[in-house]
Amino acid sequence: SREWHLTGRPVGWPKPEDFQLAEVEIAQPGPGQVLVKNLYVSVDPYMRGRMSAAKSYVAPYELDKAMQGGAVGVVVASNDEGVAVGDHVLHFNGWREYATFDAKQAVKVDPEAAPLSAYLGVLGMTGLTAYAGLLRTLSFKEGDTVFVSGAAGAVGSQVGQIAKLLGAGRVVGSAGSAEKVKLLIEEYGFDAAFNYKDGSVFEQLKQAAPDGIDVYFDNVGGDHLEAAIGQLNRDGRIAICGAISVYNNTEAAPGPRNLSRLIQTRGRIEGFLVGDHYDLQPQFVQQVGAWIRSGELKYRETVVEGIENNLEAFLGVLRGDNIGKMVVKLGE
Ligand code: NDP
Repeated sequence: SREWHLTGRPVGWPKPEDFQLAEVEIAQPGPGQVLVKNLYVSVDPYMRGRMSAAKSYVAPYELDKAMQGGAVGVVVASNDEGVAVGDHVLHFNGWREYATFDAKQAVKVDPEAAPLSAYLGVLGMTGLTAYAGLLRTLSFKEGDTVFVSGAAGAVGSQVGQIAKLLGAGRVVGSAGSAEKVKLLIEEYGFDAAFNYKDGSVFEQLKQAAPDGIDVYFDNVGGDHLEAAIGQLNRDGRIAICGAISVYNNTEAAPGPRNLSRLIQTRGRIEGFLVGDHYDLQPQFVQQVGAWIRSGELKYRETVVEGIENNLEAFLGVLRGDNIGKMVVKLGE
């Protein structure tokens, strides 16, 4: 079985030399354990943080050990009464073909209810991030003008559509290509969208939201955040979900120069972590699941095949190769 190891701590953009696809023996499950064959493996921006040794909300990857991440697989051996061979489970032992772990860490998923990859994306971690960030952190309300960056990605594409479905006054998105901008308008129903690579984010946002914005869902940080503060309306809210534009920086990025606008706007900026909001999961799955079934909420996935392409898929997320959730497919 093959699994990815981190062999060095990347500085700046991760390089292939800092990773190794290792060949290992499959560990047979001990008491209370299961052996799972992974079918879909997740790659996510936060993994960049785990490659560094810096202290954060989740421990750094250990060097020369299997890397971790979300995955969905099928149970091929079980020493636990609650989990049967053939069950499909969501778990946290990605970046590898086979995983042996405590059955307690497995969450059963239903392959009939949704495609397996959806449990990593639209009905999984990234979907809940969008839902919790919008409803809780941003206290979204009907009529709000919403701005979201990374809008063609896994989280961002759901933020915009959920806001629209819940009665947003106007939804504006930014993304990194003309193709993505077209998708936002034509398929996801955004009212306006722009390519942040085309010019000043501040000017483009001003044009897209001439009456200002009430909430900003920040996936990227940097000049997007400054532009959003600049366009914030009275009592505006900003949720810091991610800052992908600075994840590979080797020096601290400059902060927004216009924070004092929060005084006149009585604005609020607040960071959040999806892990604190799993109590919303049942409500989220019910509401978003229904919108997916009715076709009101659309989603795309970018699927890369083969464990040997797991690293490239991850780097692709940092580069913006993906539309919607990026997943690695290892089997049916
Ligand atoms: P995405 O599917 O959005 O993929 C990342 C996207 O970021 C790329 O597709 C790319 O799209 C964009 N990007 C890359 N570099 C830049 C840049 N310099 N400036 C602007 N955009 C850039 O990933 P996710 O939906 O999984 O995650 C989105 C954000 O949410 C990330 O910042 C992530 O860390 C964060 N997150 C936070 C969570 C939390 O609990 N707080 C949980 C989950 C995710 P493009 O072509 O548009 O550049």
